[in-house]
Amino acid sequence: MTCGSSTSVPWSRAVLGSRWRCWTLKKEEEVESLESIKTLLSPCFLCQHRPRDGNIVHGRTAHLVACFRCARMLKKKRSPCPVCRKEIKMVIRTFMG
Ligand SMILES: [Zn+2]
Ligand SMILES: [Zn+2]
Repeated sequence: MTCGSSTSVPWSRAVLGSRWRCWTLKKEEEVESLESIKTLLSPCFLCQHRPRDGNIVHGRTAHLVACFRCARMLKKKRSPCPVCRKEIKMVIRTFMG
């Protein structure tokens, strides 16, 4: 008795299926790449809602971690930069171009 390891399953016939199936698979791929862009441009660390467009400026450097509204709120409260703890000199609205 031998354990047959070469089990030829006709997968190819099932996978090749119809053209419609191929199209849906491609669509899923596209959605996945969009999701990765979303994680790259993750929202404000404070409200987790609005996009990161409030640049927290300290000296010659700045940290872009919060939305404009939350960044301004931090400045108003005299809180330091949430990333490096430097004093916030100003908050500027950042536009992606
Ligand atoms: Zn925010
Ligand atoms: Zn900082």
